[in-house]
Amino acid sequence: MKEDSKMEELSLCPEFPPNLTGPFIVEVKNISIMDVMTVNSHLQEGGRGKPKYCKAQQKIAIIIPFRNREPHLAIWLHYMLPFLQKQQGDFGIYVVEQINNTTFNRAKLMNVGYSEAIKDYDYNCFIFSDVDIIPMDDRNLYRCSKNPKHMANSLDKFAFRLPYQTIFGGIVAFTQEQFIKINGFSNRFWGWGGEDDELYNRVVAAGMKIERPDPKISRAKAILHHRDPGNEKTGKSFHLINEAAKFMHMDGLNSLEYDVIKRIRHKLYTKITVNVGSQE
Ligand code: UDP
Ligand code: MN
Repeated sequence: MKEDSKMEELSLCPEFPPNLTGPFIVEVKNISIMDVMTVNSHLQEGGRGKPKYCKAQQKIAIIIPFRNREPHLAIWLHYMLPFLQKQQGDFGIYVVEQINNTTFNRAKLMNVGYSEAIKDYDYNCFIFSDVDIIPMDDRNLYRCSKNPKHMANSLDKFAFRLPYQTIFGGIVAFTQEQFIKINGFSNRFWGWGGEDDELYNRVVAAGMKIERPDPKISRAKAILHHRDPGNEKTGKSFHLINEAAKFMHMDGLNSLEYDVIKRIRHKLYTKITVNVGSQE
């Protein structure tokens, strides 16, 4: 009881976290999960953290689509867990793993992550991030904004520029309201590519604009890798991308079907292993 009333008294954390230090170097190397666990031993099960002495500005679920990328996940956690704590986030990490060797469906895994995260906590910000993109500056706040936010706008692999203006892949941040307004991602993109462009069209069709952080601050490392087996480019997504406005209200969160095979609260993240079906 006393503990509870103490909690109520916490004042809101400052809008700009006070202990940020700016740019840092991201090294792509072998990271041991055990070491990451030692450094982050004070986190709550499931990769939950929140500031001790103030009330976080936002409640942030980070959703990572995943299959067979353990080394990248270790690097991501190594850099991101301290980063998110420095930014005074109230956060939870959700790794959504597609089972088997069926064709990968990144967008559907994002929808699953959202649907499962809201069962845990009243998150109000959802950051959908590839496992292999790591920010290189802690002033790049992992938070939601007035508009859906594209955060992978300054990647080293693209010389810190946008390869095209409407690009909306890699890392995106939505408030719950923004995400519901577009009915989430499409569930119909199997294999590599297109789902991010379709997502952009949903945002526009819903009457919203996207925003991006200052590319000097949002510089990020994109780990180079080969295309994964089961995630081949299909090249058949053009009509889906173009018809986003027409289909978005029947294809997305409200048509999502999946079976959770396992839900494990690891110390550093919640891992949801899921059967998302396969392309007919
Ligand atoms: N991904 C994964 N396993 C796979 C395929 C994809 O974990 O077999 C996830 C992972 O988070 C990855 C994201 O989906 O970062 C996007 O896929 P990919 O990295 O191939 O896209 P690209 O690098 O071409 O943007
Ligand atoms: Mn990648």
